[in-house]
Amino acid sequence: MKNMEEYSLFDDVSKVVDHAASHMDIHPGLLDQIKQCNSVYKFNFPLRNGDGTYQVIEGFRVQHSHHKLPVKGGIRFSSFVNEEEVKGLAALMTYKCALVNIPYGGAKGGVTIDPTKYNTDQLEKITRRYTSELIKKKFIGPAIDVPAPDYGTGSREMAWIVDTFEAFNPDAINAKGCVTGKPLSQHGIEGRTEATGMGVFIGIREAVSIKEDMDALGLTVGLAGKKIIVQGLGNVGYYSAKFLEEAGAKIIGIAEYNGGIWNEEGIDIEDIKRYQVANKGFKGYSKGTFMEDTMSLLTYPCDILIPAALENQITLENANQIQAKIIGEAANGPVTQDADVILLEKGIMIIPDMYLNAGGVTVSYFEWLKNLSRVSFGKLEKRYDMKKYDLLLESIEKATGDTFSESQKEIIVRGASERDLVNSGLEETMVTAYHHMNGVRKEKQIKDLRTAGFIVALERIAISYMDLGIFP
Ligand code: NAD
Repeated sequence: MKNMEEYSLFDDVSKVVDHAASHMDIHPGLLDQIKQCNSVYKFNFPLRNGDGTYQVIEGFRVQHSHHKLPVKGGIRFSSFVNEEEVKGLAALMTYKCALVNIPYGGAKGGVTIDPTKYNTDQLEKITRRYTSELIKKKFIGPAIDVPAPDYGTGSREMAWIVDTFEAFNPDAINAKGCVTGKPLSQHGIEGRTEATGMGVFIGIREAVSIKEDMDALGLTVGLAGKKIIVQGLGNVGYYSAKFLEEAGAKIIGIAEYNGGIWNEEGIDIEDIKRYQVANKGFKGYSKGTFMEDTMSLLTYPCDILIPAALENQITLENANQIQAKIIGEAANGPVTQDADVILLEKGIMIIPDMYLNAGGVTVSYFEWLKNLSRVSFGKLEKRYDMKKYDLLLESIEKATGDTFSESQKEIIVRGASERDLVNSGLEETMVTAYHHMNGVRKEKQIKDLRTAGFIVALERIAISYMDLGIFP
């Protein structure tokens, strides 16, 4: 792995943007404006320990682009959090939202802590204090900046954030929309937890459905029997693997930070997840070969490799040894730019992070809409639709003399639930964006999907600025 001190995710993202812009006719001043982070807020606050000692905690919130408001992006708790990383992740959010056509600017937040070293009380204190620092500077709010979970945070932290925000803003009727990824009881949305993994699944399914592209890789069409290695069995990795397995793919390797597991016959995802939760890792799991050297698992033969843990995992050091035909970037920034060049030369297809993990922000957008309207999706029309479909079936039965079975009636009549509507919106977003991005790749005769994705995103952002009359 490259020295973390030297590596700048933000520089990597900027280089890709420059490369994409070289295929476009975009004003250089406009390009400079798009690339920069508009606001960077770095702050420190004290944490009092139970024994009377203190620690100084470092936090960040970066708003990359205000071309659309609010800005949106997760909050990461990790000891690797630094300014360059948060800036890079914020920039990726801008391009991601533009690519999948979600009306947000990009942002990201982080706290430089290893959350596993803190107890629940300390994590709550840190999260609430971090939130109040954002409130003080107006770096959070349903119309300003809407965080979400990321590496090391989840719905629990989002609940603390909304509770803190409401305490400071008791008269704000839209306060619930200040953060997404909340628990359902705190006005979250059905399907948010698994949204990113579901999006990864849909994105990969679309990629492997195109015969011409699969022929070029020497792969068959469809997910059935595809051999997959996943890095990171956390939220995104687990749900991606679960949905891919359900669609007929075989998960043959899983790499975690404390050891990996390998089984060519396929690993049962539910089974290994239960084992991981109970044993804090895969050591001792009997239905596969345990591997101490977890990084080497990324270079094992497979059809699809899904890094779903952290950035900076496929670098100059291991890119040449990668044997996968497709890399699905479920994590943010898992392939460095140097490595990207090598992988493309090897003919590997990379489904870029800015597209592939956009399911999370897409469903976050639905959650935010639900919070602003203060009604859950499907609540108003569900019974109306059920009655309408019931009448329709009755009329068809009368006219044809045929009868529908109870199970057929159940499927047709039941009406869409919130989860049905969320999944439908997510699928529509991911499918449309994939074919748009791949279409631009072919039209411009570009090798890679990443450049094509950035072109689509840059075009949309540029139009926002140009329609304001700021740039020609
Ligand atoms: P998570 O904390 O739930 O899971 C991360 C997993 O990776 C954990 O199981 C952890 O043990 C494992 N891991 C850590 N270091 C590792 C290493 N060196 N090797 C192998 N495994 C390692 O986090 P998540 O929410 O699943 O996020 C994973 C990635 O997906 C991050 O890059 C995040 O930015 C990105 N992402 C997440 C979401 C979301 O909705 N959660 C949305 C978009 C992008």
